[in-house]
Amino acid sequence: MRETVDTAESPSERVTESAPPREAYAAPESTVRLRAVLAQMPDYKPGKAAVAPAGVTAYKLSSNENPYGPLPSVLAAVADGATTVNRYPDMAVAALTERLAEALDVPAECIATGTGSVAVLGQIVNAACDAGDEVVFAWRSFEAYPIVTQLAGAKPVMVGLDEQSRHRLDAMLAAITDRTRVVLVCTPNNPTGPCVHQAELEAFLDRVPSDVVVVVDEAYVEFVRDPEAVRGLEVWRERPNVVVLRTFSKAYGLAGLRVGYAVAHSPVAAALRKTATPFGVNSLAQVAAIASLDAIDELTERVESLVAERDRVVQALTDQGWTLPRSDANFVWFPLGADSTAFSQACQEAGLMVRQYGDDGVRVTIGEVEANSRLVEVAQRFGAR
Ligand SMILES: *Cc1c(COP(=O)(O)O)cnc(C)c1O
Repeated sequence: MRETVDTAESPSERVTESAPPREAYAAPESTVRLRAVLAQMPDYKPGKAAVAPAGVTAYKLSSNENPYGPLPSVLAAVADGATTVNRYPDMAVAALTERLAEALDVPAECIATGTGSVAVLGQIVNAACDAGDEVVFAWRSFEAYPIVTQLAGAKPVMVGLDEQSRHRLDAMLAAITDRTRVVLVCTPNNPTGPCVHQAELEAFLDRVPSDVVVVVDEAYVEFVRDPEAVRGLEVWRERPNVVVLRTFSKAYGLAGLRVGYAVAHSPVAAALRKTATPFGVNSLAQVAAIASLDAIDELTERVESLVAERDRVVQALTDQGWTLPRSDANFVWFPLGADSTAFSQACQEAGLMVRQYGDDGVRVTIGEVEANSRLVEVAQRFGAR
């Protein structure tokens, strides 16, 4: 039997001692032909696991996860659901879809679920794009966008953000061609933080060809406090080509269970069901999502405290002299350019795992109070930019 020794706080960092060394794998010379596009595609980079210098508690602030563990009621639902995992999940995800329809006040036929909203996004692109079609989105934005686009055989068309790290919808409009099948609008934008405003989105949609699918990715909608922010469902109701994307991974704290959904008008929603992995949304994810909707008041309190923490951090950084883009999400963006590596290093030395985006900047998730306070200290020592 293998012995495991706990060397870290997180079970994912357990080190296995006395495991027999595995024989080196010698790959035979490859004879298979794979799609050429794969060689050009970046690998999705997951957030770094928490590792810290000795004696320092490490915090993972690199994946925009919720720092709170699952609620007792959600854990109980998962434990109960675990007794029947010999059975396939409900492929139609009927109970969760009904609960969502009720909570959002939309018809159930307009909801399509998937294994995280990343997967739903893949379903959208697969449903809309033939080889060589174009998907327009802002950049920097969510790292999965170029990946799902290229996996579907489509071409990413990336439009730079403005100097406040906001979408340039006018430039995105100009980037639309007759090959454009999908436009992705990330609001608030991951990794930079600002929302797109309702009025600017409406003006944009008035000019986008109506056969182009416009995805409003609201992964962080629960953290939004900007009164002018997009209200995705309102926009969706009026426009046949709009799809709203939501997730249980962030505010609901279910990132590990993989469940997200789209709200789309019924022909689009039906297409998303066709392009889904059969039985993709597992039974534990389904019951946990329902239990979370049942516990919405408790979850809302947690979201409120994360928003309060975000505001505290932003205020402290502003007082230090930092100029940062507005964040309406559960993270802050440090647009540090060439100083990104040094800042990321300083965070890491303090036990904070953050996400560096090359020479663009560093994104830091709002986490535990202690972690957020430590970020403020690191930023102070680093010196405001
Ligand atoms: C985290 C995130 C998602 C959601 O991912 P899941 O697959 O639902 O975990 C979607 N869009 C953006 C912009 C995100 O940051």
